[in-house]
Amino acid sequence: MINLDLLLEEADTIAIAGHINPDGDCVGSCLATYNYIKEYYPGKKADLYLDPIPNIFKFLRFSEEIKSERPENICYDLMIVQDCGDVERLGESKKYFDSAKVTVNIDHHISNECFGQHHYVIPTASSTSELIYNLLPKEKINRFIAECLYVGMVHDTGVFQYSCTSKSTMEAAGFLMELGINYSKIVDETYFVKTFEQQKIIGLALLKSRLHLNGLCISCFITKEEMDQYHVLPKHLDGISSMLRSTKGVETSVFLYENGENQYKVSMRSAQYLDVAAIAVKHGGGGHVRAAGCTLTGNPEELIEMLVNEISEQRKGGEC
Ligand code: AMP
Ligand code: MN
Ligand code: MN
Repeated sequence: MINLDLLLEEADTIAIAGHINPDGDCVGSCLATYNYIKEYYPGKKADLYLDPIPNIFKFLRFSEEIKSERPENICYDLMIVQDCGDVERLGESKKYFDSAKVTVNIDHHISNECFGQHHYVIPTASSTSELIYNLLPKEKINRFIAECLYVGMVHDTGVFQYSCTSKSTMEAAGFLMELGINYSKIVDETYFVKTFEQQKIIGLALLKSRLHLNGLCISCFITKEEMDQYHVLPKHLDGISSMLRSTKGVETSVFLYENGENQYKVSMRSAQYLDVAAIAVKHGGGGHVRAAGCTLTGNPEELIEMLVNEISEQRKGGEC
């Protein structure tokens, strides 16, 4: 385990960053650390860098201070990387990692190869937010930090449902609930409520879905044209792969959306035994055993066929 306070005390300038297309755990865990520094180390210069975050997370304290522009030529004393399986996933923030005097890597991706000088990488942890909870002195967790951490845990566990949820996750959540956070509202407004446009594209994805391997696998792809038609951005498609996976009898879902010329973001989920991280890693991506992703180039139908074949091979090979 790393000593966050010791590292913070020794640094005058601190940068925090998470992965591209930040999700609930990335935003929640990074803002928790940022709130902690602002509260207990007010004299230090701290900057939090993330791509623009979904509006649902903008109620979290200091979210308006998140920087999406990343100027050149700043060298930080300390760079804290959170919820990021590899340095490439830092996107534009990578330059701060490369030039920082001290680097810290806090993460729970199975594909994380423990980059950085100091690391706290626990693949069995539910979320990076749970890891930040472990690192912070309990008496110093205020309501604002608790809100951030709770959001992160809720999102990476599918509201405490996925198999990554453990007794310690529930104990951490219970501790946070006692700090005066509006936990029902957080779950409803950040997890379940969707815009009308999102509901429409979810409907389209379900209608377009196809079964493979005798119903063991489900797939679907959404084109840029369809996203434009329903006025949705990539960040609005979070949750579709999990929704597809919850089809009766399905073990694995493969969801693709177009995020560039002939380029597709792949989002895979599995229910009980398939290792989707192994498939994602093979294609330069990463993630967790039950939730992983990568980016591929080509015809979406052919890409799906290739991934379905790999799923079938893994099953046959008894790798799972
Ligand atoms: P997603 O399907 O995008 O929700 O991602 C599922 C999990 O896999 C998350 O923990 C992501 O951080 C991780 N992941 C998704 N895409 C990639 C990628 N291209 N490289 C590494 N990890 C990824
Ligand atoms: Mn994440
Ligand atoms: Mn995470």
